[in-house]
Amino acid sequence: MTGGWDAVVVGARVAGAATALLLARRGHRVLLIDRAAFPSDTMSTLYIHQPGVAKLSEWGLLPALLDSGCPVLDTIGYDVGGVRLAGPAPVMPGAPAALAPRRLVLDRLLVEAAVKAGVEFVDRANLQELVHSEGRVTGVRFRTASGVRTEHARLVVGADGMRSRVAQLVEAPVELSDPRASCVYYTGWVGISTGFGFHESPGNWIVRIPTHDDVTLISTYFPQDRFAEIKQDPFRHHLAAVRGTAPELYEQLAGAEQVEQIIGTGDQQNYFRRGHGPGWVLVGDAGHHLDTISARGITNALLQASFLAEELAGRVDDPAASARFTRRRDEELTEPYRSTLELARLTVTPSRLRMLREIAGSPELTRRYFAVVAGMLGIDELFDEDELLGDDDGLDGDDVF
Ligand SMILES: Cc1cc2nc3c(=O)[nH]c(=O)nc-3n(C[C@H](O)[C@H](O)[C@H](O)COP(=O)(O)OP(=O)(O)OC[C@H]3O[C@@H](n4cnc5c(N)ncnc54)[C@H](O)[C@@H]3O)c2cc1C
Repeated sequence: MTGGWDAVVVGARVAGAATALLLARRGHRVLLIDRAAFPSDTMSTLYIHQPGVAKLSEWGLLPALLDSGCPVLDTIGYDVGGVRLAGPAPVMPGAPAALAPRRLVLDRLLVEAAVKAGVEFVDRANLQELVHSEGRVTGVRFRTASGVRTEHARLVVGADGMRSRVAQLVEAPVELSDPRASCVYYTGWVGISTGFGFHESPGNWIVRIPTHDDVTLISTYFPQDRFAEIKQDPFRHHLAAVRGTAPELYEQLAGAEQVEQIIGTGDQQNYFRRGHGPGWVLVGDAGHHLDTISARGITNALLQASFLAEELAGRVDDPAASARFTRRRDEELTEPYRSTLELARLTVTPSRLRMLREIAGSPELTRRYFAVVAGMLGIDELFDEDELLGDDDGLDGDDVF
């Protein structure tokens, strides 16, 4: 192709395939590459919050996702310290509920939609280096089974995950970071009927997530400083955590069939990297990663793809547009980052329990609380002035998690 591509996107999962799709739909010529052989699975407990579902709906992908047999997660339960919050999942335009589709299904759907929109997709294509000219990134060099290929582009988008090679090659500075907070292990079961929900006790966070084929994933979070111990025998610790923190769920395991072996990680980094530079931009986990305890990675990736495509609507190589994207990413995603880190401390403070007890007594507050968890309401919108904040009971927004 003479003159090269408008954009080369490196990484073809939720951030990269969505970005490629949206840029192509705006008329840009896009090459999308991934080193994995697609369709390809990846480690994830799959949960997509309503704002992420709304994006999939806006892009016309929701019907296919629902047709794939992905269950609709329209109720939520949350048990902690003898307090139980339960109610319908919040809804927003385009998002009738939350979803937890298999990544094999979701990632393939996004790539297929991107290709349909005109994107050229090459899998088994491993980025080796970036091409530079006059102080800016102007292309990529990647290896495929048939050899090394060089492609030129006005913009290179790094959507290549937490260990981003693009970020490494451009030496994108880390602008905000925090130590790893939790570690996580999960299994998959058939025969559990509890729906979506979470359970918490000091040092443990348990989530049950129904997905395709009647499978419910159960994930258990532990403090990072227990990782060395937990990884010696993760299944034993996983079951002990479920038994101690979610006894009703544990009872159901006796009659259920475990269909997925335990899997997990202690490497959940917390950072914002600089999102752009001359000829490059980072989207999804490549630019911003947070502890998976709040299950925001997929939703954040879809939102970022949407911000980026909107900002680049004119010229993809306009530096002001890339700068606007990074600013918007930071403005929108810093508060969820902070509350995620708070949750990942895995402490249950008396003031938070008091607040949750108050919320549990009110269907309206429960509705608003779950909307905050979904990222549909700001923490400061949870309570009206005369409800709780500002009282003398010492509660503040940090108590939400
Ligand atoms: C245990 C666990 C549970 C999780 N649970 C949830 C959850 O319930 N909900 C949620 O929202 N998020 C969850 N996440 C996080 C979520 O999976 C990620 O945030 C999300 O996948 C990020 O998408 P991405 O497209 O930015 O990056 P990735 O999904 O990491 O995709 C990056 C892609 O780039 C490709 N790539 C990398 N290097 C190269 C290279 N050199 N050349 C070419 N291609 C390359 C990779 O092959 C990969 O396909 C979880 C994560 C973990 C680890």
